[in-house]
Amino acid sequence: FHEHGWILKRAALSAERPALIDVHSETCWTYADLKHRIMRWASFFRTQGYEKGERIAVYSPNSPELFAVLFACELQGLVYVPLNWRLSRFELQGLLDDCTPALLLFHDDFENRMNGLTAKCTASLSVIETITAPANWQPDVRGNRSDTWMIIYTGGTTGLPKGVMLSYDAVNWNALNTITSWGLSARDTTINYMPLFHTGGLNALCIPLLMAGGTVVVGHQFEPTEALMATDKYAATISLFVPTMYQLMVGTPYFRQSTFPSMDVFLSGGAPCPQTIYHAFRDKGLRFKEGYGLTEAGPNNFFITPEVAAGKIGSVGKSMLFNEIQVLDLDGNPCTEGEIGELYVKGPHMFSGYWNKPSETGEAIVDGWLRTGDLAKVDHDGDAYIVGRKKDMIITGGENVYPQEVEQCLITCVGIREAAVVGMTDGVWGEKVVAFLTVEEDCIIDDMMLIAHCKGFLASYKIPKQFIIVPELPKTHVGKIDKNELLRLA
Ligand code: ATP
Repeated sequence: FHEHGWILKRAALSAERPALIDVHSETCWTYADLKHRIMRWASFFRTQGYEKGERIAVYSPNSPELFAVLFACELQGLVYVPLNWRLSRFELQGLLDDCTPALLLFHDDFENRMNGLTAKCTASLSVIETITAPANWQPDVRGNRSDTWMIIYTGGTTGLPKGVMLSYDAVNWNALNTITSWGLSARDTTINYMPLFHTGGLNALCIPLLMAGGTVVVGHQFEPTEALMATDKYAATISLFVPTMYQLMVGTPYFRQSTFPSMDVFLSGGAPCPQTIYHAFRDKGLRFKEGYGLTEAGPNNFFITPEVAAGKIGSVGKSMLFNEIQVLDLDGNPCTEGEIGELYVKGPHMFSGYWNKPSETGEAIVDGWLRTGDLAKVDHDGDAYIVGRKKDMIITGGENVYPQEVEQCLITCVGIREAAVVGMTDGVWGEKVVAFLTVEEDCIIDDMMLIAHCKGFLASYKIPKQFIIVPELPKTHVGKIDKNELLRLA
């Protein structure tokens, strides 16, 4: 049986050290404060009679309070389900109907948005202010390490979001793997503006750092200058942002001025990162590294090595201490050096299945390996590169085109802000390569210029047959380019 509550041991060891800092209110919770908060929530859950395995959904912007709820769920054997507050009411109701929470906790700021949402029971997060922590609290729930601790919904980039069940073991192994493979310690601080309803926000750095006794600075609504200023103010050492956030940050005067002396490494993840961003950081002598992850595994899967963090562009590096990766061709054979195939991941950090979706779970796990649906290749040093999503690959005139490569090329063309490449049905080519672009203000760009630029880097069959300039690219709720929507627009 699993003894719950490593956070309580950590709190005892690091009682006076800062655990969580709220950027807006500048409130700092020490580990002792966090423990106190956790106890109050655990006591609330117990007195309200919630039973092991029941779901507690939270509907809230980023807040330190969410960590208190999360760890209290662990103590009481409850399943923590963070909801994406950017979803429409209709979409949210879909998730609630799927996970059927015993309780939906909402942030006071979202009270109005609760109208029209149906859940068995609801309560404001501020209910905690009315609860006192018992002096001698003992956990009364025991469970297995394989019990589900959280259900996190995927980004919904390729369809409807799927509820990913993560056990205590999966979450803890991801944290241990991250601490050991990335060298995290109590001296580390992260600035987190990533949404805490996604695994990238919650599990990439926050939980590992709390396990290591480090500090998590919680940002709310992302604002590029604020995020960079917080990096310096709190002397952050490691942070994760998605490429869209980096795109905005590198354009600020603050980015140009600061040398970010405390930062060990800036991490990017969640979507392909344009090379221009690598250059913006590395030209300042900063370490910048792309990670790769997905809700179903980790999310962390690759080491941070100095060679990759300071040298190679576009590589995610080698697999971490406690997980394995392999790249297989269409026939299921290992790919040779440089050959593109599907990426498979295996390790104790993997999910236990999709909630309510046994057949999708069966399709995702093959002989204990997770089929990621992403394409990758490995170079002569054994460093991996993510090439794109399998679903997005374009076959034109019998040749494979990986949109990410074409996008990377287009974005280096002067005047181009963003690029998204898709395959559209074509009578002659089967599929034709089409690029959607957003351009800098007052910039005049024509097809001839774009084709001339591409010719310097790409084989002719990869060069888009059509360029479509749009005011903005459609994005999913987590800021990834929504290619399904693009195809609808075309
Ligand atoms: P859904 O599974 O619902 O379609 P999603 O794939 O966006 O949504 P997430 O688990 O949030 O769900 O995101 C994981 C995906 O993000 C990966 O499968 C991969 O396609 C993409 N990704 C993550 N890191 C990188 C990276 N460094 N480069 C390219 N793509 C990345």
